Amino acid sequence: MRTYRHDGRTAQVLDDLVGDSLRVLLPTTAILTWVWASVAILAIEARVVHGLVVLGLVLATTALSYLLHRRNLGLAVAVYLTGLTLALTIIATAFVSPALFFLYIPLLLVTAMLTGPGITWAMALVAIVLTLAIGRGVHTLPLGQLLSPIVFVLLTALSAWLSSRRLFTALAWALSMTAEAQKNAEEARERRAEVRSILKSLEEAYVRLERANEALIFAREAAEKAYRFKAEFVANVSHELRTPLNLIVGFSEMMATAPESYGGTLLPNQYRGDVMAIYRSARHLSDLINDVLDLSQIEAGRLPLRREPSDLGKIVGEACEIMRGLAEAKGLRLDVNLPPEVPLLCLDRTRIRQVLLNLLSNATRFTDCGWIRVSAVVDGDEVQITVEDSGRGIPADRMAHAFEAFSQLDEERAREGSGLGLAVSKRFVELHGGTMWIHSTPGMGTTVGFSLPLPQSGKAVPLTLLRTPAPLSGAQGPRWVLVLHDDEHAVSLLRRYVEGYHFRRADSVEGAVALMREAQPAAVILDSSWHDRWMQVADAADVPPHLPVLTSPLPGLHRLGLLMGAADYLAKPVTREDLAAALARLPRPARTVLVVDDDRHLVRLLARMLTAIDPSLCVLEASSGAEGLQMARSQRPDVVLLDLLMPAVSGFDFMEEIKGDQTLAETSVIIMSARPVEQERAPILGELRLARVGGFTLSEILQLTEAALTGLTQSAAVGPAIASATAGGQPG
Ligand code: ADP
Repeated sequence: MRTYRHDGRTAQVLDDLVGDSLRVLLPTTAILTWVWASVAILAIEARVVHGLVVLGLVLATTALSYLLHRRNLGLAVAVYLTGLTLALTIIATAFVSPALFFLYIPLLLVTAMLTGPGITWAMALVAIVLTLAIGRGVHTLPLGQLLSPIVFVLLTALSAWLSSRRLFTALAWALSMTAEAQKNAEEARERRAEVRSILKSLEEAYVRLERANEALIFAREAAEKAYRFKAEFVANVSHELRTPLNLIVGFSEMMATAPESYGGTLLPNQYRGDVMAIYRSARHLSDLINDVLDLSQIEAGRLPLRREPSDLGKIVGEACEIMRGLAEAKGLRLDVNLPPEVPLLCLDRTRIRQVLLNLLSNATRFTDCGWIRVSAVVDGDEVQITVEDSGRGIPADRMAHAFEAFSQLDEERAREGSGLGLAVSKRFVELHGGTMWIHSTPGMGTTVGFSLPLPQSGKAVPLTLLRTPAPLSGAQGPRWVLVLHDDEHAVSLLRRYVEGYHFRRADSVEGAVALMREAQPAAVILDSSWHDRWMQVADAADVPPHLPVLTSPLPGLHRLGLLMGAADYLAKPVTREDLAAALARLPRPARTVLVVDDDRHLVRLLARMLTAIDPSLCVLEASSGAEGLQMARSQRPDVVLLDLLMPAVSGFDFMEEIKGDQTLAETSVIIMSARPVEQERAPILGELRLARVGGFTLSEILQLTEAALTGLTQSAAVGPAIASATAGGQPG
């Protein structure tokens, strides 16, 4: 059986119960006594005193008990029970009747109701003693008459004890249950509060999440915008830079290489040397701009590097020579500190020179007085190159952004740069398997360094880096490819994007035969239009049976021009050789040439180039499409050198007009425009065929098929080109 302790709370409840019972018992007792007293006084007159005494005693004790019960319940109970016992004793003494001793039984019941089992037993003892004392001592009644009240008193005490015990247990159980229920309710309340606070946090988190989501969408849009802006920015900057640069390149080239076109006045030698330096630097800048365009247009990882065993000392020397004039003009000392011997590195010279030029140009721009020092040290399996300056330095809090594209850390000078230099340089160095770092102390100077792995380290160098073009013919066999194409542009594409081979172009059967006799090529790449001429080459030169012959529809600019309805296409900046070659390709020799470009200076440059090519040419100059059209109609030139992008009447409009004019049917157009990158990306209709005189083995065919599948399925822009391998025989 489970037992329950009578703790403080049980006692309190019991007290409450006793109080309640007392409040019922006191008036009941008083009323019953009063009724009894009235009966006793009226019916049995001789007992008037006894009746009054009992009535007085009971009324007094009940009244006193009532007064006490709120302040001291125990005392109130004691007073009440004592009064009652005394009253019953008086009654039992006054009246001689054994039946009166049964009155002790209600007394016992009341005692059991108001007290615990101990007092009940004590009261039973008192009742028995009084019964015996009064019954035997006062009334001298025989014991037999007293036995039954005594037995009943004992039985009453026993049953009261038993029932009160059960009562206490039930009460304790009920109280403990109540306490537990209360505890549970309390806990539930606490949990509810917790749940409410969790709900609130959840709501807050939800709101924050929504806000974060919005911010994310906003950031993504901003990033996309920034990306578009970057591409536009790069394209615009490059275009804006190119236009004046093309003039610098063109005029300096003319002044340095064709002084006779200036009416025979020869420049003094010193001037010519300087003009040559201007020409070389401008060419380099022009290459750099192309690189920036590449960076924005070629997906990451596809940036082509042209790596060759290179002398780092020479590259550093060249870069320093280019920058020396600028540094000295600012009063800065430029020191170069190179170890006596730097091993040959596998580098793309232009890119590394560009890195050095970027660092030197930053050092010059951000140093107002003092010095710039370029040093290189061989450290383990790498070479470390540093460019130090004694300039203004970079604030510590901006350093983290140094290598971010388009980030400029010096607001005062922000307009001077594009914020691309360090980002591009780092990228180039990483492509070479190196790392780049920067240290700076504001007010003291900046050091930017980069490492380049030595070839034998083989550690950090990407595999492709080591795939440098081998000598024309060596232990591993020939690694050069003969390209039979009418256009240099096609070869320049191959040189730019295909690694590991030298490409040499021939544009005539004789040239091709001569090259093939010089050394065996690893392969031949034919333009589709060269099929018949290739037969002649194959007849004249000995074609080994293992020589792969690839027929490819590689586009040339000339063909692009034809596609656009012109006689030819020249990529800007137009060089004298390009121009001479284009004129030579015309079906009829040109006597009168009209140059149409909205850039007057460029028109003047082209005119000068034309007269340098052929002093007997009649050159007409127009600086707008409308003016050009007017001149074309009045002068009917043999050829028009036409810029495509002009305001008002564009090159395209010009072409339309010319096509519709019968009188100008004989006039050819040579388009001049920027490098047609978009065209390089457009699908090219044609067939890519691979052939070999000696045929292919089955395993070769399977390998080639796999390579073709991989190449085509991995390429995002799969054009309608069809790759076919023709086994055996000449390509047909
Ligand atoms: P920018 O075309 O603006 O020069 P860079 O990426 O080359 O772009 O450089 C980013 C920024 O880093 C510069 O705008 C300049 O604030 C800071 N910086 C680069 N090199 C130096 C240097 N040697 N001294 C001080 N600040 C430099």
